[in-house]
Amino acid sequence: MIEALERRILDGGRISADEALFLYHKAPTYWLGRLADTVRARKHPDGVVTYIIDRNVNYTNVCVARCNFCAFYRPVGHAEGYVLGFDEIFRKVDETIALGGVQLLMQGGHNPDLPLQWYEDLFRAVKQRYPAFKLHALSPPEVIHLSRMSRLPVPEVVARLIAAGLDSIPGGGAEILVDRVRKLLNCYGKASADEWLDVMRHAHRAGLRTTATMMYGTVETDQERIEHMMRLRELQDETGGFTAFITWSYQPEHTERGGREATGVEYLRTLALARLVLDNFDNLQASWVTQGGKVGQLSLAFGANDMGSVMIEENVVRAAGASYCMDEVEIVRNVEDAGFVAKRRNMHYDILGEPMFRLRDVPRMLELATSREDGDTSVPVELLNYPARSAAGKRLRTK
Ligand code: SF4
Repeated sequence: MIEALERRILDGGRISADEALFLYHKAPTYWLGRLADTVRARKHPDGVVTYIIDRNVNYTNVCVARCNFCAFYRPVGHAEGYVLGFDEIFRKVDETIALGGVQLLMQGGHNPDLPLQWYEDLFRAVKQRYPAFKLHALSPPEVIHLSRMSRLPVPEVVARLIAAGLDSIPGGGAEILVDRVRKLLNCYGKASADEWLDVMRHAHRAGLRTTATMMYGTVETDQERIEHMMRLRELQDETGGFTAFITWSYQPEHTERGGREATGVEYLRTLALARLVLDNFDNLQASWVTQGGKVGQLSLAFGANDMGSVMIEENVVRAAGASYCMDEVEIVRNVEDAGFVAKRRNMHYDILGEPMFRLRDVPRMLELATSREDGDTSVPVELLNYPARSAAGKRLRTK
């Protein structure tokens, strides 16, 4: 059966969920890698591996969702809760541009004290100062949170965010798109599987491109992992709006759920299987931030064609214990050492050019920056313009 499936995949045929499960259980790791690499090479015959210079800005860590796999959030009123001020965000954009960056990846907690208007004002202010700079922002659960808070339907929230300057939506918050799993992870309330997919459907219909993610290694079965991929494949058939798929393993440190992290082989097998199942996705990213540079580099032989973001800043998986860091020089060294040609790209996977550090001097950035020092609860001045909903938020604003 393995040979028959190999022939079908090489002939451009599609595999079913049962066949994917069979391969995941029975196919040798080297076989999965070789086939995923063949499929990758067909889609990207030029041997180019891309990456983007952008900055992951977590605008607030205050969150009412309380997913039990998350080490990043702080409850409303917690001493370590923060909201970034507009000036702080502008400074981060300035630093990103200085490093050759082209966008912010903005995601944060579900903060009840930040109304839709705050996001619209922020996006407009960023676009006014930096018209060409891109905003890849607000994963589907954040959009749903804004829809619930503003009592506006999701398509209207998406339309308002686009009008304010939103360029694309990151695929965060997908975890595993199976409601049994989501209930166990306490993330069903923030978005059911259908709700997550629906935000992406509306975004694609509104003309936005988005990414898709999968966080595996908590409570899901192998079958549910594959169901997740199948649901993404179906939506991609319908809309064609996903630019890329990114998978990473659950990072257990400092989380309520705890447990152990999946191994490197499990990551590589999952990635390779995703390349075989997601035949309608062009791009698969290597998650070196969670797997480390060495497994990240190996990912390029298991179906990945992209190294993701240079990550000038990352706070979420860092809070859960992963602290791998590579700047552009290191990413390019890993790509070239694996036998590929490294090129910079934007969110649409348009090639922007050669590595920036070969074109001009850019500062080396080998330390991960964080949004705030622990315990910095200063309230950005513009927050006073927006009504708070929580008692703690109201108290802070009247101080
Ligand atoms: S994963 Fe996101 S939504 Fe869930 S608790 Fe963490 S910050 Fe909140």
